[in-house]
Amino acid sequence: MRTALVWLRRDLRLADNPALHAAASADRVITLYIDDPDRAANWAPGAASRWWLHHALAALDPDLRARGGALLLRRGDPLNCLREIISEFGIDAVYWNRCYEPAARARDRLIKATLREEGVEVQSFNGNLLVEPADIKTLQGEPYRVFTPFWRNAAQSARSSRPLPAPQRLGNSADVAALSASSTLPLGALELLPRIAWDSEFSDHWQPGERGAQQALRLFLDAPVERYKADRDRPDRAGTSSLSPYLAWGNISPRQILAAIDARAGRHPPDGEGADWFVRELGWREFSYHLLYHFPHTAERNMNPRFAEFPWAEPDPVLLQAWQSGRTGIPLVDAGMRQLWRTGWMHNRVRMVVASVLCKNLRYHWSHGARWFWDTLLDADLANNTQGWQWSAGTGADAAPYFRVFNPVTQGERFDPDGAYVRRYLPELERVPARWLQQPWKLPAAERAAAGIAGTVYAAPLIDLAQSRAQALTAYHASRPEPAGD
Ligand SMILES: Cc1cc2nc3c(=O)[nH]c(=O)nc-3n(C[C@H](O)[C@H](O)[C@H](O)COP(=O)(O)OP(=O)(O)OC[C@H]3O[C@@H](n4cnc5c(N)ncnc54)[C@H](O)[C@@H]3O)c2cc1C
Repeated sequence: MRTALVWLRRDLRLADNPALHAAASADRVITLYIDDPDRAANWAPGAASRWWLHHALAALDPDLRARGGALLLRRGDPLNCLREIISEFGIDAVYWNRCYEPAARARDRLIKATLREEGVEVQSFNGNLLVEPADIKTLQGEPYRVFTPFWRNAAQSARSSRPLPAPQRLGNSADVAALSASSTLPLGALELLPRIAWDSEFSDHWQPGERGAQQALRLFLDAPVERYKADRDRPDRAGTSSLSPYLAWGNISPRQILAAIDARAGRHPPDGEGADWFVRELGWREFSYHLLYHFPHTAERNMNPRFAEFPWAEPDPVLLQAWQSGRTGIPLVDAGMRQLWRTGWMHNRVRMVVASVLCKNLRYHWSHGARWFWDTLLDADLANNTQGWQWSAGTGADAAPYFRVFNPVTQGERFDPDGAYVRRYLPELERVPARWLQQPWKLPAAERAAAGIAGTVYAAPLIDLAQSRAQALTAYHASRPEPAGD
């Protein structure tokens, strides 16, 4: 009897799961998730991600059982856990889908070599990317640093493989569920849910797992995709797919999304450029992984070495906390940070604005923001988060230059023109007239009491946008981190 072990990580799904697909033909298929309790390990999943993980694991177990499998949960050092299970179940082969974060790559390299030495077959697969980072290079054989040529090259390979179906059956042995049940930890023992119930609204917005992912995809393809090019920048509208947390935990693969887009194109008349723009955003995800893979230090340090001497400010704990909790007095920033806290997600346009305020107006190093996002985003993804922060801070590859400082007032007026987004998250601004909503401190003093903002941070924001912008530019020009002429 041949027994295969599938080590699930960021690929919590049945369909288009190459490791599971390869294992399915064994007699017995054990599927395992290991929670590594080493919280000190850099970039261990944050609190919001762990909420997602809990529910995605809960959703996966019955689906595995329906196919003759079952989910086995363990907690501990991954190599030790794998060895225990290999010996307990007499495993012949271990399969997994590759991770690309620097620590995960180092771990997987070591585990692969060790288990092979110990006589176990080990195979890894690409389950989570359209194009593997090592497979694509410039004509000079270098990694890409600029998105457009990267995607011109990668987009050709992106459609070269089609998604795999979910296995009908996992092995042919009847004893897997019973064996797993006698050996698994209960899900609650992984302690993935927060102790303080700050997650109370998450379930109103999200359904972690494969079914939730397919539903989000269907909803998006039903209509919003047609208006994606125009609506993707509008935080007041449901104009984007909301697929990011599902992608982050692999409840859906980018191959599945691309195949669904192509199938839709076959059924519908051309709908403008919506789908093309959307696929390009999936390309940005690929680019983020390409960068993290080839420049693994960038999760911690600036991609652009010219920023090494940049005079970042030491964070003021009061201001940092005001930014984190959405109490700076700048409506678009506060709405974004409260959206993040309440729903575990923030619109991309607003992510760029809050990041610009942190890295430019406050002049804090982007890592302070990246850490906060890491803990609070349900879609926290080391590649995308690193790239998003380095891009916003001007320190990244193909980044927005540092001297381009977003103005949250004009951004709000342009992308939240009726103020619906700001009002949704800042009930205290309900009575502020639309004209002043993005800069309530400009409301004439006599009207502030009636609008309910007299004496609040919205009458006197903690950050002076004009002055802090000027200071940021002075610091920038003094240290000149980018080549002259920018
Ligand atoms: C400071 C900052 C931090 C970010 N941190 C993360 C993060 O931790 N995890 C994360 O998934 N995204 C991150 N992003 C990128 C982007 O904001 C989110 O991917 C997007 O808002 C997710 O919403 P959606 O699924 O509706 O996106 P859609 O617009 O529907 O796009 C579809 C998918 O494309 C990918 N994508 C879209 N925009 C980007 C982008 N700019 N860069 C890379 N991939 C993109 C995502 O996987 C997304 O799910 C960050 C952006 C910024 C500016």
